[in-house]
Amino acid sequence: MSRSIATLLARRDIDKREAEMLIAAALATTRAYVLAHPERELDAGQESLVRGWIERRATGEPIAYVLGSREFYGRDFQVTPATLIPRPETELIVEQALARLAGQKALKRRANARLLDLGTGSGAIAITLALESSAGVTACDLSGNALDIARQNALRLNATVELMVSDWYGGLGNRKFDVIVSNPPYVAGDDAHLAQGDLRFEPQTALTDGSADGLASIRAIVGGAPAHLDAGGWLLFEHGYDQADACRELLLEAGFNDLSSARDLAGIERVSGGQIR
Ligand code: GLN
Repeated sequence: MSRSIATLLARRDIDKREAEMLIAAALATTRAYVLAHPERELDAGQESLVRGWIERRATGEPIAYVLGSREFYGRDFQVTPATLIPRPETELIVEQALARLAGQKALKRRANARLLDLGTGSGAIAITLALESSAGVTACDLSGNALDIARQNALRLNATVELMVSDWYGGLGNRKFDVIVSNPPYVAGDDAHLAQGDLRFEPQTALTDGSADGLASIRAIVGGAPAHLDAGGWLLFEHGYDQADACRELLLEAGFNDLSSARDLAGIERVSGGQIR
């Protein structure tokens, strides 16, 4: 019986592009190679691996969990059901933070700015910022299982990040930072999307805090930030497509200046923030 790439791709119950990704992973090669070699035979082990993955994907499991990884800002991050799957739009918070870090570095004599990431999950934001800047990075999460994944990602990508269990600022004492970033849960507790598609498989606590407006975590993060920012420090966080106005209001109430809301590639206000003077 043929175990060629073409035979595997002939299945109708899976997206062709995703099947190509799974076959590429099983052969430890690229999708381009898979596309160019339909006649290539898989050995029995590779074929059963791919078939198992295709079964899992066919039940709706996110492809990032099937493969155990997802690319973010040009690097592969290990992801498991203990962590949210990094989204492309979250790269915006990295860009925004890098711009603020560059400003802080010019402003202060201290060579290395201190950055805090709240609710780090797989560590995608914190590790990327540690690798893309000279900042000293601290990353917190309430979930020890998520921190285990973040630790493995930091190790594999050669990033130095201080990881700690903390319920938002709860474990940080009176430590202060130059930039605080977060991609917190912000989906409203009764949002039907939580029971659909990939979101069904992700940690619900990473997606929603259960509040009716989805803003309870953002309130805690914004409210606590001034006590943990040095003068001139910035807070930047991701939020939902319709939350920018409410987020700027919270920032204003907490005493932030220079408020901004940056738009993602879809043109949606996605990352808001401000500065403490
Ligand atoms: N952007 C994600 C979604 O709507 C939610 C991520 C989050 O809550 N931080 O699927």
